[in-house]
Amino acid sequence: MAGMAGFHERPKAELHLHLEGSVTPELMRELAPEVSAEEIRGRFAFRTFAGFLECYKWIVERLRCPEDYALVARRLLDSLAQQNVRYAEITISAGVVLWKKQEFAPIYHAVHREAARSTVTVRWNLDAIRHFGAEHAMRVAELAAEQVGNGVVSFGIGGDEERGPAEWFTDVYKFAKAGGLRLTAHAGETAGAESIWAALRLGAERIGHGIRAIDDAALLRHLRDQNIPLEISVSSNVATGVVDSLRTHPLRRLYDAGVPIVLNTDDPGLFNTTLEREYDLAASELGFSETELTQIVGNGFRYAFADSAGRP
Ligand SMILES: [Zn+2]
Repeated sequence: MAGMAGFHERPKAELHLHLEGSVTPELMRELAPEVSAEEIRGRFAFRTFAGFLECYKWIVERLRCPEDYALVARRLLDSLAQQNVRYAEITISAGVVLWKKQEFAPIYHAVHREAARSTVTVRWNLDAIRHFGAEHAMRVAELAAEQVGNGVVSFGIGGDEERGPAEWFTDVYKFAKAGGLRLTAHAGETAGAESIWAALRLGAERIGHGIRAIDDAALLRHLRDQNIPLEISVSSNVATGVVDSLRTHPLRRLYDAGVPIVLNTDDPGLFNTTLEREYDLAASELGFSETELTQIVGNGFRYAFADSAGRP
């Protein structure tokens, strides 16, 4: 695509990427051969955030054993390696593993083993589900803290911002920080700027999405001055209907306001995207220059939680 020559070859980093959301319809067929192609197509054809959450849950329910998770990790890591992604922080929905009443440790060991075989340097983020509440989130934070030094670098919350307000998780974030974890949070994706302020009060060092910051000039200044990046995923925001169209995505305005930006795929399997494609869209739909995108590529390494992320 015009202006983007060379971005395939460029070493890149992914900081907001869900393991379970990397499952493509084709991989779903392998994982659950009993499900018809038609049903899978239907499940992946969501148009709203609620529909997306349903699809995500449906996929995760079909990851039945550590080997299923390992297969998903293997395919994702192959894809990242092909795109010249050198470093990735991959989120595991540990909260959903607990909800399924599966043991987390064997699943973690299975995916961590896959990562050790990959050319991609991988660190893990464990994610709790906001609307499952604080007690649930604490169990996830405990699992994450147990694996500090063994590949897990951070803890975060995702899910429904309205039904799981950040205030619930103050003690959980304190615990996670004391346990040596870095902190992130999905916020300002489906809820407004106040949800981002609340995530910052928890101590979040990066914000997942955070696009509603565009509605609050004081927040934009705060993010810029405190050097707090937004993990932006353009295709995700369009697919879940939280923005109307690619062209109206606030990425350009957030960048112009001086907010640090990292580009990501979020759930590449569900949104039919790749990291390269996100860069292509920023160039073709939102007018980013090669120089600007080069800076954003650098941000992927600059804002990594692991010291060992390196710089190409
Ligand atoms: Zn996400």
